[in-house]
Formats: sequence, structure tokens, C-alpha cells
Amino acid sequence: MREGDAKRWELPPGRAEEAFEDKKPLYTPAEALAEANRCLYCSGAPCIQACPTGIDVPTFIRKIGTGNLKGAARTILSANLLGQSCAQVCPVEVLCAGSCVYTGWGREPIAIGRLQRYAVETTLSSHPALFQAKQPTGKRIALVGSGPASIAAAGLLALEGHTCLLYERKALPGGLNTLGIAPYKLKGPEALQELEWVLSLGRIEVRTGIEVVETASGPGQVSATGLLATHDAVFLGLGLGADARLGIPGEQGEGVHGATHLIERLKTDPGLTLEGVRRALVIGGGNTALDIAHELALLGVEVAMVYRRSEQEMGGYVHELDAARLDGVRLLENRQPVEILREDGRVVAMRLAFLAEGKPLPGAGETLPTDLVAVAIGQDRATHVARAFAGVALDERGRVKVDPLTHRTGNPKVWSGGDCVNGGKEVVNAVAEAKLAVRDIQRYLAGE
Ligand SMILES: Cc1cc2nc3c(=O)[nH]c(=O)nc-3n(C[C@H](O)[C@H](O)[C@H](O)COP(=O)(O)OP(=O)(O)OC[C@H]3O[C@@H](n4cnc5c(N)ncnc54)[C@H](O)[C@@H]3O)c2cc1C
Ligand code: SF4
Repeated sequence: MREGDAKRWELPPGRAEEAFEDKKPLYTPAEALAEANRCLYCSGAPCIQACPTGIDVPTFIRKIGTGNLKGAARTILSANLLGQSCAQVCPVEVLCAGSCVYTGWGREPIAIGRLQRYAVETTLSSHPALFQAKQPTGKRIALVGSGPASIAAAGLLALEGHTCLLYERKALPGGLNTLGIAPYKLKGPEALQELEWVLSLGRIEVRTGIEVVETASGPGQVSATGLLATHDAVFLGLGLGADARLGIPGEQGEGVHGATHLIERLKTDPGLTLEGVRRALVIGGGNTALDIAHELALLGVEVAMVYRRSEQEMGGYVHELDAARLDGVRLLENRQPVEILREDGRVVAMRLAFLAEGKPLPGAGETLPTDLVAVAIGQDRATHVARAFAGVALDERGRVKVDPLTHRTGNPKVWSGGDCVNGGKEVVNAVAEAKLAVRDIQRYLAGE
């Protein structure tokens, strides 16, 4: 961490996210040992295959069992540099723990995420210097965006001795790790702390408040061609764009929020108040909809999710829906928003149409009172700037096109990974894609 960075990236006190309890707090040593001792150290362990970054789960768990925490952390972080945040945010239920042999037997799987958190968090708090960067190579890499994809790529490239410059348009670095993840899993300061650890690995600089654009027209902007000319390679970790809108009457104005925008405010803005918000409607059926619904419910709001299809067709994880329901979230299926009703400008209700097999049932619907509407029906793409790098193409859904094995784009000096390539997956996928890109950048810089 450089002098001044911590202050620059400090989050102000009084944020709503501070009210959330950690759903899976750090294990005590006794808890970790007991859980580690349940692992069967399976040969051909399915939990390794299920991890997009290929963490050697049985090996790190065995190291915890023998008291070698530093070794456990090294095993994890050498496969996944963001092993700390992934331990807290990974949907382990559908990845490693979901494939644990215990799950197949109908028994409680090994709590792999919690053991991973225990090993990494405990180790890095006392031994942050786990890895040593190679001698400086003099090569400069530009990374556009500072989310998990770019952070993981920068950390790996810095360990190879390259200088990395991350350009981030927002005031805070970290992408959705800092601004989007549900605060009962990971809070903003924890994400920033992990970022600072990655920065400590080598020559990495984060330039916040700088947007990479096609043609720069003032301070706060740099052009794509300028980046290409002044760096040996470029990595695009652009993520996704703004929340999509419903396009119905009454949507404009106070009280109707894009879900990721509202989540970001809960995590960063002490000025956000939910005073007077007793009821909320969340529109959508994906994980972002589940997250904002669950977060509002935990803040004491009465929340219903409005989804246009049936529960079985929802994009969100079943375990997240179950958890949200336990905290009071209701699901209203086969309904479509028609109009948001206001009184003196204030949101008071929403008119919904009933659907059958995705089609409105003529004349059938209801009006539900609400004080707030959160719209979680997807995000636009933020990838248009990618086209400004000659040769980089987008697919028909606006995702950056790459070679799936190398993550190189159509421009031989430009790589890409994370949500802007996969259309929106998990943090661990962003890390896995960054690893592939870095391997190929290394080959390119070595002249292979
Ligand atoms: C609400 C929400 C909850 C989520 N919860 C989880 C979870 O619990 N577990 C999990 O594993 N995953 C979760 N995800 C998904 C996860 O956050 C993403 O998969 C991951 O952050 C992708 O990383 P990324 O680096 O590709 O993109 P991002 O994290 O989006 O980072 C991209 C960064 O690039 C910046 N940027 C974009 N364009 C430019 C430009 N032109 N110039 C400069 N900067 C630019 C953006 O400002 C942003 O900071 C969640 C996503 C959302 C929306
Ligand atoms: S599948 Fe489960 S029991 Fe087997 S090694 Fe992985 S975590 Fe341990």
C-alpha cells in the first residue's frame, strides 16, 4: 500500500452496510480444526474440479489440520490470488461444497469457504509477505477497470516483475467486490483491504476517477489509443454497465432505484436513508434481485419480489432464495409491472398484471402498496469502449470476444476477462479468466 492510499479509499462511517452481521464469521481455531478433521482428503477430489480456479482443497484442508496455516494460505492464494474474498462470496453451495462427497450422501458438506477464509485471513493478518515478486522487467501493462478481474490479473503480472497501472472510472476501486457484494458476505472495507494486499505484491498503481474512452476530451479521461501506445499490453476488465429500466409510467423520479445502484449506495453512502420506507417491491428473479430484497428485509423493510415467471424458472440460486425467505422476503410469481403510482411525487403503489406462461391474462392484476421499487432486471453493457481498441470485437450480446483458451481479443496486444466477457458470473470466474489471460500475456511478452 502506498502512502495516502488508505485515506483516499476510506469509506465514510454511518453507511447502512455497517448494520449487517457477518453471516459466516471467521472460525475460531477449535472450530476450524474440528471441521478440517471431517475432510476425507478424497483422491481425484470433486471439490477441486468444481473450483473454476482449481484450488487444491484437500491439500489446504490437510494443512489446516496439521496447524500449517501459512502453507494452507499459500496453497489457496497460489491458485486464486483473491482467495480471501472468494472464501466469503463464492456460491460454494453450487461449486466446491456442492460437489463434496458428503453432499452426495445427503450429509452436511465440508465448509470449504469458511476453512478457506480461516486460513487466508488468519495468515495475512500476521504474514502478509507470502510471495516475492520477480526482478522488474520494465514492461508496463494497462488494466481498464479495477474489479476482481483486473485486480487478479494485476497481482499475477506484478509477481512476474511487470509494472501494472489500473484505470478506474469510479472514485473507489475494487469493482463489485467493493460496491456490489451483499454486506453480510463481504463489506467494502474488507474488499479494499484485500486490494491493498494485492497492491503490496509488486509494482501496481490504481488511478481512480479516470475513465478509458474512445477519444479523451479532458482530465479524468484517457484514450484507448493512448493506452495502447504507452503500454506493452492492455487488459480489459470492464464489468457490466448501468441497471436496465422497466420503461413503464411512473418510473422516473424518487423512490425507484436500479438495484445495483441502490446496493452501491447501501455500501458507500451514509446519506442514504430508508426512513419512511416500510414496504418495498423488488422486480426480477436473479441473484441481484435476491440480494437487494434480502438486504432490504434485513434492514427491517417488508419486501416482496415480483417475478414474471414461476419460482422454478428463476435465475437466482435456490439457497439464496431460501435464505431470503427465512428473513421475511416474499415471492410473487407470474406478475409483470404495469405502472408505478405516485402521490405528490412519492411512490405509493405499483400496478401489476398477472401472467400465464409469460403472457398477460386480460383484465387480471392487482395494485400493491409500496414505498420503494428496486429494479433488478439486468444490466446494460459497458463494453462499447472496447471497440476503440483496433481489432477488438463484441458479440451479438455486447460481450467482448476473446479466444476462450487465452482470453486474447482480436487485437494482439489486448486481453479481456470477467463479467464483460462472460456476461456476468461470479468473482471466482473473473479470477480464473484473469489467470488464463496472464498466462498468455506472459508468453506474448516473452516473444513466444
Ligand atoms: C449485486 C451483485 C451481487 C453479487 N454477488 C456476488 C457474490 O455474492 N459472489 C460472487 O462470486 N459474485 C457476485 N457477484 C458477481 C461479481 O461481483 C462479478 O462477477 C465480479 O465483480 C466481476 O468482476 P469484473 O472485474 O469483471 O467486473 P466489476 O467488478 O464490475 O469491475 C469492473 C470495473 O471496471 C470499471 N470500468 C468499466 N468501464 C471502465 C472504463 N471505461 N474506464 C475505467 N474503468 C471502467 C467499473 O467502474 C468497475 O469498477 C455479484 C454481482 C452483483 C451485481
Ligand atoms: S470432496 Fe469433500 S471430503 Fe472430499 S476432499 Fe473435497 S472437501 Fe474433503
